[in-house]
Order: sequence, then C-alpha cells, then structure tokens
Amino acid sequence: MADQLIDKFNRVVDYIRISVTDRCDFRCVYCMAEDMTFAPRSEILSIEEITLIAQAFVELGVSKIRLTGGEPLVRKGVVDLVSNLSKLEGLQELNMTSNGSQLPTLASPLKAAGLDRLNISLDSLKADRFKALTRTGDLDTVIEGIKSAKNAGFKRIKLNAVILKGQNDDEIMDLIQFVRSNELDISFIEEMPLGQIDHHDRAQTFIDSAYIQEVIEKSYKLTAVDDVSGGPSRYWRFDDGHKSRIGFISPHSHNFCGSCNRVRITAKGKLLLCLGNEHSVDLKAVVRKYPNKLEPLKQVIREAMMIKPERHEFDLAQDVQILRFMNTTGG
Ligand code: SAM
Ligand code: SF4
Repeated sequence: MADQLIDKFNRVVDYIRISVTDRCDFRCVYCMAEDMTFAPRSEILSIEEITLIAQAFVELGVSKIRLTGGEPLVRKGVVDLVSNLSKLEGLQELNMTSNGSQLPTLASPLKAAGLDRLNISLDSLKADRFKALTRTGDLDTVIEGIKSAKNAGFKRIKLNAVILKGQNDDEIMDLIQFVRSNELDISFIEEMPLGQIDHHDRAQTFIDSAYIQEVIEKSYKLTAVDDVSGGPSRYWRFDDGHKSRIGFISPHSHNFCGSCNRVRITAKGKLLLCLGNEHSVDLKAVVRKYPNKLEPLKQVIREAMMIKPERHEFDLAQDVQILRFMNTTGG
C-alpha cells in the first residue's frame, strides 16, 4: 500500500497548506499590524525547496495542496511553482487563496500552469470601507481580478469573508447577492486570535457563524450539504436551487479539529502541526542539510505526525494566544 500520514489520533493527513511568502501588498486589520517586519529573503524557502518539500508530502499520500501566504501572488516565481507542483504524480488538487490584487494579470498564467481552484478574499463591496479594512487595497482591482479568474476558466471560485461587528456586518446580504449574481461560492470565517493587532479588540468585533446564517435565512432558506470539501468549511445551499454555496468556517463555535486532515508549512519552512498551537518542526533545516534528497524529509515528516495536537483552544477573552500572525501561519 502507498505511504500515508496518520497521526496519534488516527487522523489521516492528506492536505497541506503552504505559505509561499509572509509578505503582502495589503495590511488587513484582522490579519496584520500596520507596521510589519517580514522575514529576510535568505530565511524563506526557495521555489525549488518548496517543490521538494511538496513532493515529499505527495509521496507520503498528500493529495491536496493549497498555496497561501501572506499574498502568494506577490512571491516571485509563484507561477513556476504552480507549474512544478501541478506535475507531481498523485496530487489531485492544487488550489490557492489570494487577495485577488494580482489576478488581473496572473489569472490566465496560473490557469495555464495547472492551478485547479482559487479562493479570493473579499470583506466589503464598498470601496472606501474595503480600503479601510485592507489599509492599502483597491476594490476595483480585486473585482477585476475575480472577473479575470472567471474568464481564465476557473470554476467554483470561492470568496472568503471575515465579518466583524461594527465594521462590515451590514454587508452580509450584499455579499450574498454578489456571489449569487456572479455564480461564486462564499465562506464566512470567524475571526481568530492570531497575532497581536492594534486595530480593534477582537472580543468586541466577534460575530459567530450562527448569527450570519440567521441573517441570510431571513431572505433564503438554506439546506446543509453533505459534501466534504476536505477543508474546515461546513457548506449550505440555497433551497431556491441557485448554484452558489455558502460555507462557514467556525473555529470558535464549531470546533473542526476532530476531522482535521491538514498541516501547514510556513514561508520559513516550519511545519506547523496545528493552526492554534505552536507545535512545529523545522523542514528548512532538513532540506538545507540534505539538498535535493527526499528520504530525510520524508522521515522527519512521518515522525512529526506523532506531535500533531488533538485540538486548538481559542479564547477571545485572552488577548493573544498565538503570537504568529495569520500571514506567517498561512491561512
Ligand atoms: N493573502 C491571501 C488572502 O487574503 O486571501 C491569503 C492569505 S490570508 C492569511 C488567508 C485567509 O485568512 C484570508 O481569507 C483572510 O481573510 C483570513 N484571515 C486572516 N487573518 C485572519 C484572522 N485573524 N481570523 C480569521 N481569518 C483570518
Ligand atoms: Fe494580506 Fe491576506 Fe493577511 Fe489580508 S488577509 S493582510 S491580504 S495575507
């Protein structure tokens, strides 16, 4: 039988998320502080190193990879990376989460390089508010990016929206109308306490998925979809037959650790066994000690499964629990 990664709690790990850079052209208020220090380039995995690490995981049974960041599309060589990974035998899905800002130019090259699916983050449809929430982003460019992705042939594009009380909670239905009229899916994500931010008190802005669902159900009846996406989203569909799907990623209100099938690799090559815990293993040290060698990497990865924690514990009352920012973690 082919190799498979199984942790101490008998969960099969077949999905990895790779952060290809910690840098970003946005500074979203829930993700980053206004002033950020990024890792020096020498500490970031090269495109070849990322490819080798991904190959080791695929040979260990990983069938799905998501590229993320920071903003993956500001990383030089990202299209080449997609092209390398899409050729890995055994990989069934190669996806990316992006803020959309570079998609007007990169959507077609990414499709041609073999990227399967795109998630695009969008928290507001009001230009001034979008600018305020992202600190630097331009809404029109992101909307153009979404159109370019559709024109390039990407199917089932999914928006990710973080809804914050008092900031954008009046836009839930506008976002729903937007996905319905553009044939997109959407996931609403509960804010997580990752990184010390100065913009707002997370306990004050927190909105749970149940509230968002209630708002939507005032206008549309929803039915749960059984389909397992292999990610943390729970999906619903509109009863009126519309094709768009609505997902909820609820790290607080619906702990998803029991079915966790994923691990993360940071831009600096740390293998993070859990989003909400600090357990990690340094893969960069291995790949730099044994350049171009798969076996030492595979051995370290197999052993790492034994320290994957059972679950995360997020508590908004405690100010910051995980000092890593989401851009370092790889969302
Ligand atoms: N830059 C890309 C983007 O924004 O889509 C990819 C990386 S970003 C870290 C991945 C996802 O994490 C985004 O959808 C973002 O909204 C979400 N995110 C960032 N910080 C978060 C937080 N503190 N809580 C919940 N979601 C967060
Ligand atoms: Fe950048 Fe994505 Fe974080 Fe926003 S959520 S600052 S786009 S990494």
